[in-house]
Amino acid sequence: MIFMDIDTFVKLRAFDDAIMDQIGDDITLDDIQTFLSYDTSFWNYLKGKVSRVDSNQNDAKYFYGTYPSYDSNGVLSGLYVIVPIIKNLGTALINVHEYRHAYDLYNHLGQKYVINQLDSEALAKETEEAFSLKYALSKGSKWLDEQTSD
Ligand SMILES: [Zn+2]
Repeated sequence: MIFMDIDTFVKLRAFDDAIMDQIGDDITLDDIQTFLSYDTSFWNYLKGKVSRVDSNQNDAKYFYGTYPSYDSNGVLSGLYVIVPIIKNLGTALINVHEYRHAYDLYNHLGQKYVINQLDSEALAKETEEAFSLKYALSKGSKWLDEQTSD
């Protein structure tokens, strides 16, 4: 039995995106919502504001994002999220990333909110990484065992 520690998992993930497509087919939106632990009012607000694209293709990644809308006074008035359907760790991480952006925007609705892109990206990446680590601890080592058992 090979035990995969967190560092190994993070390195594998960094060097081989394909790994993220191969593992995590049991991750659900529920898992992500539980992990993020944002209030129910946020998820209720998002209803009807999320497009889930059924694609793993690289081309599609350019559409994924969290899009703010502003009224004529420059007040943040709404948001829209485009994410892939959750199929594996890779698509799950994009969801985690975008929901983090969406939550940050949600908390500034009704304000003249100027997004700090650098901070916002850093937070979203941190949240992704935290999800990866949690995943590595709970499921990732099981996956590596399966790969090396035959
Ligand atoms: Zn981002």
